[in-house]
This record gives sequence, structure tokens and C-alpha cells, in this order.
Amino acid sequence: MKKSLIKKYARLIVRVGANVQKGQSVVVSCAVSQADFCALVVDECYRAGAKYVNVQWSDDKISRLKFRNESVRTLSTVLKWQEERVKWMSEELPCRIHIVSEDPDGLKGVNPAKMQKVQVNTYKVTKKYSDAMESRHQWTIAAVPGEAWAKKVFPELRKSQAVEKLWRAILETVYVTEDADPVETWEKVNADFKARCAELNKDRFEYLHYKSSNGTDFKCWLMPESKWCGGGETDLRGHFFNPNMPTIEVFTTPKKGMAEGKVVSTKPLSYRGQLIENFSFEFKGGKVVSVKAEKGQKVLEEMISSDEGAAMIGELALVPQDSPISNQNILYYETLFDENASCHIALGRGYRECVDGYENMTADELSDRGVNDSMIHVDFMIGAPDLSITGHTFDGRDVEIFRDGNFVI
Ligand code: ZN
Ligand code: ZN
Repeated sequence: MKKSLIKKYARLIVRVGANVQKGQSVVVSCAVSQADFCALVVDECYRAGAKYVNVQWSDDKISRLKFRNESVRTLSTVLKWQEERVKWMSEELPCRIHIVSEDPDGLKGVNPAKMQKVQVNTYKVTKKYSDAMESRHQWTIAAVPGEAWAKKVFPELRKSQAVEKLWRAILETVYVTEDADPVETWEKVNADFKARCAELNKDRFEYLHYKSSNGTDFKCWLMPESKWCGGGETDLRGHFFNPNMPTIEVFTTPKKGMAEGKVVSTKPLSYRGQLIENFSFEFKGGKVVSVKAEKGQKVLEEMISSDEGAAMIGELALVPQDSPISNQNILYYETLFDENASCHIALGRGYRECVDGYENMTADELSDRGVNDSMIHVDFMIGAPDLSITGHTFDGRDVEIFRDGNFVI
């Protein structure tokens, strides 16, 4: 890929994604195989005025080796210096930039129960720090093509061709082109998001009813305070940022404990480095009561038993079938992209910023209203060409939101 376009992209991530401000600290997480791209991002951070930039390196091979060779106890131990580090982050509130490039199946063969235990144990120590950071700092997730990932998406191509093709696909989703300024395009995109959300927020829905011929027949209730969000957001310190690059979805947080029926997945899901395919969930009383998966049954079962909130819904997101990422017709095996090609639902943690007046509510108040809390937040795709969604308003009207996979309003 052309160096000039890659540079444009790095700049976009820093200026529009995280929107790094003069004097701020930045923490970047990135795979070692993407060190060159990471250096461009770090350079842009300093140009934007960052006072301190820290990079947290990762590597699939090393992670695999650690999981195979270390005990659950060792893996679960949060060492003093590691805790100090997250504590520092909760006080300093650095911008966070996550660069995704991993093989979606890179941790294949690692025992899901082991990964699960480690996550549960470490979360006990780190939860208070992540809670303290929530809604108070800018963050963004963006992707660059790793070799194994590119081969997974385009198996018929040679490695270098696959990487090049994935580069082109990724840059297209974030509007990085030769002749236009992507920063301006993102401003337009965010204006469109605002208009769409305002339209959806005119009606307050008591519940949404999803139906599709693949077996999805599902109702999910919302809170009177649930509001639709999309595109960039503003943290509690007043900094605007774009958490996902790309993004197409408009989403809200439902009322936990109130969902009934069956949802059928329409795309594979990569969770903790393992692929789950052709799966469905059955909900009763707001909770998943049964799971079926052709591939990855065990991983899914572990996932929903992570904690109490893991079997409940934290997000409903609307994405039309006819949208730029969906029309690319690429299965990325990476949620950042696939969730923007399809309507989806997330199990686990809800979004407090999707609640009217969340700025003045404590975590307990938000939970009382019905915002779900969990250590996980996992999106899975349910969009289909014949998906219909009807919203039932609090004042008793039925409003058609989606017909044949696309917005009607
Ligand atoms: Zn989403
Ligand atoms: Zn989500």
C-alpha cells in the first residue's frame, strides 16, 4: 500500500479517532508485527501535542505459548507493577489507541475454560480502575492487515496480495482516498449520524421485535431513558472522539432482564482468538437459556457464564444491509468490521452514554434503571436480507423501523 495513504490513515486515527489533545498522554496497543505502522501513529501523537506516549506490544505466538505453559494461577496474578500501571491510567486518563491486526483464529487450541478463568480472576483486580476510566477518556479502535488475518479473509491470494487487498478494503471503510481529506469526510459522516439518531429518538420504544425467516423471532425491551447513539461521542471532559474506525451502526442500550425469543447469528464470530460459527441463542426473562453452535459451542458456553451480566443484553445495533461495508461483501472475521455490515446484538456490558442523563447518575443508579454490567461485551451479527424490526412505542404505537434488512425511517 502507498506510504502516503498509510500516513493519512495514521493521522486520521490520531486526529479524528482518538482526537489527541495538546498535553495529553497516549497509550497505544499494537502487535509487534505492525511496529512500522505503530511508529507512524506515535509520530502523529507527538505532532498533535501528546506529552507522553506508551506502546503496549502484543504477539499471538507469545500469547499462545503463555496460555499453553503457564498455570491459571500464574496467568491470573496481577503483579504489583501491572496493577500500578492500570491505576496510573485511571488517574492520568490517557487517550487509548488500539490497533487491531491479529489472526482471528490465532489462539485456536487454547482451552477456553482456562482463558475464561484468567479473565474472571484478573478482572476482579482491574474492574475498579476500568470503572473509574469509563466515559472519562478518549479511545479508538482501528485495524491494519496482519498476514495471517489477510490470508484468512482472502485465502485464494498469495500472502502479499492478500495483505494489499485487505489494506484497500480497510482504507475504503474509513474513507481514506488519494484525493479527498478523510477528516472532512468524517465530519460529514458524523453529521449524518446525528440526523439519523435524532429521527430514531423522536419515538421512545418500549420494545423492538425482530423477525427473519432464518428463525430469528425476538423481542427486547428498552428503558424509557434509552437513546440511540452513533458515530463520534464526547467524553465527560468534553473531548469529541470516534471510538470505532470504521463505524456505520446506530445503537442503544436495552433494559437488562427483559428479552424473549430466539436470535440466529448470520456471520461467524471471533472470540478470544477462536472462531464460532452458525450459532443461536434462546432468551427467557432477559437471559440466554440455551446456546447452539455448529462450531465453538464450548467457547460460547464459557462466554455466557463469565459473570451474571454475560448472559444478558447490553446493546442493540442497527445496520442496513445496503451500507458501504455490507456492500463490500467481505467477511472480515473481525467484529470491528463485521458488526458494521450487519444488525447486531451484544451480550454483556451496556453503554451508559446511551442513557438520557447518564452524566448525573452513579453506577448503581444506572444499574437500577436497567443498564447491564459485565466483564464482557461481545457483539454478534443477526442482520439478514429479510430482517424486519418493529418498534412498539411507550404510547402504544407500532413503528416499522426495518423492512427487508434496511431502514424504513
Ligand atoms: Zn455495536
Ligand atoms: Zn458492541
